[in-house]
Amino acid sequence: LGGRIARAISQIEKETIIDDKVFNECLNEIARALFQSDVKVEFVNNMKNNIKNIVNLHTIAVGHNKRTIIRQLCKMLDSGKPSFTPKKGKTSVVMVVGLQGSGKTTTCSKYAYYYQKKGWKPAVVCADTYRAGAFDQLKQNADKAKIPIYGCNTEIDPVKIAVDGVDKFKKDNHDLIIVDTAGRHIQEKSETAASLFEEMCQVAEATNPDLVVFVMDSRNGQAAFNQAKAFKQSVAVGSVIVTKMDGHAKGGCVLSAVAATKSPVIFIGTGEHMDELEVFDVKPFVSRLLGLMGDLSGFMDKIQKVVPMDQQPELLQKLSQGNFSLRIMYEQFQNILKMGPIGQVLSMLPGISSEMISKGQEKESQAKIKCYMTMMDSMTNEELDSSNLKLMNESRIGQIARGSGRPLREVMKMLEDLSRNMNAQHMGKFLPPQMLKKIGGL
Ligand code: GDP
Ligand code: MG
Repeated sequence: LGGRIARAISQIEKETIIDDKVFNECLNEIARALFQSDVKVEFVNNMKNNIKNIVNLHTIAVGHNKRTIIRQLCKMLDSGKPSFTPKKGKTSVVMVVGLQGSGKTTTCSKYAYYYQKKGWKPAVVCADTYRAGAFDQLKQNADKAKIPIYGCNTEIDPVKIAVDGVDKFKKDNHDLIIVDTAGRHIQEKSETAASLFEEMCQVAEATNPDLVVFVMDSRNGQAAFNQAKAFKQSVAVGSVIVTKMDGHAKGGCVLSAVAATKSPVIFIGTGEHMDELEVFDVKPFVSRLLGLMGDLSGFMDKIQKVVPMDQQPELLQKLSQGNFSLRIMYEQFQNILKMGPIGQVLSMLPGISSEMISKGQEKESQAKIKCYMTMMDSMTNEELDSSNLKLMNESRIGQIARGSGRPLREVMKMLEDLSRNMNAQHMGKFLPPQMLKKIGGL
């Protein structure tokens, strides 16, 4: 995902002129990447609109745009209210809910272990009487960390177990009591699902937890939102732990979880082991989601350097009409040579791509441009004014080569380069609107 967004951003950096269209394309690409990362469509659209409203393309650099995108995502990840956190010296009861297989049992012991390492006295209660071996599974993990556990393999009333376990650990002065519950299966329809939700509510009512944690599998993708919502509607979810963020996990459903539960994500699970639980931090997460965007500071410079272009209204007029010809290119070359140190300027001109010049090779590029112009001097007026380079056949290319004293392949290379730059897409469509206005309300 990060790679894709980084590519989108670097694409926008490559564009000769950045206007709304280019910017939109960049945003669309980012949106596609987010969507594929399981961020819900509505959020993506929301974000796009918010960014568009905030970013004034003509006055703000992309370095800022990047910050805007990050800020937007951070805002979306902010549930608006902090999660309940257990307080030392007080007994807190935390109940864990979620779909079957989402990682509740694993997370219970991870969560307990996290606090144990900080000097707490946690204990776990297995209130999952639905799944065979649920108790043994939790016990195995708890034993490893020497965390007391309550439950058994034979009791069938989850409410009774939960209440008894919580009572016992309260008496034993445990300051953090974690209740693991049975999972609901996604496919379970009607009766089973309803009765399991009912059971979950009863456990919650009987144990009166300080916090209900919704555990969500990050691999649930686009379905995450509705699942989270269903849980939130049944029980007072206070925070979310997203599991399985290791491997190829996509982070987008973290956004869904927050939006659906209006609760913060407090931890993410990053593996099957006890210590693979990370405190969730919005900013680093968003940065990771967006990937390394690279240094965009040059962008501002670019936009500003493009602005002198509006002193060339005639040229802009032609370009905006899609009339790009070798003659215009020739004139651009003349401009470039006039402008001096061309490294910075070259790629700002319409029709000139940054590929035509390599960093630190300004001299070489200048020489190359002079060669181009020499070859162009051997072209006919018709060829120079045509916006279609296909017109040139092999024998003509040979004549140009001989006329300019340049090798044939060099002429061909130039035509290839130039025709790429003359691609209509590159032209007027990309002109900033304020320039278009200047040249007559196009
Ligand atoms: P429950 O049904 O909700 O209690 O889910 P479990 O705790 O039994 O976990 C289901 C599976 O997911 C187990 O194989 C766990 O080892 C695995 N699992 C849980 N959390 C993570 C995680 O953060 N990363 C990975 N890779 N696997 C996890
Ligand atoms: Mg379980």
